[in-house]
Amino acid sequence: MSTQVRSCHKCFQLMWLTADQYELLDEGTIRAKCPHCGALVRFKLVTEGPNATGPKMGH
Ligand SMILES: [Zn+2]
Repeated sequence: MSTQVRSCHKCFQLMWLTADQYELLDEGTIRAKCPHCGALVRFKLVTEGPNATGPKMGH
């Protein structure tokens, strides 16, 4: 899993999340705590495009 760059739903600032800063809820969803406002936010993982180079496990 690589670094995810997302904007917070609450404060709209960009979050740079390294692998140890977010939690994988399931194979398509991650959860992270915003370093700016402290909100717990969930994101869909991008499964297409240049970031989708990781191997699929278990399928
Ligand atoms: Zn925030």
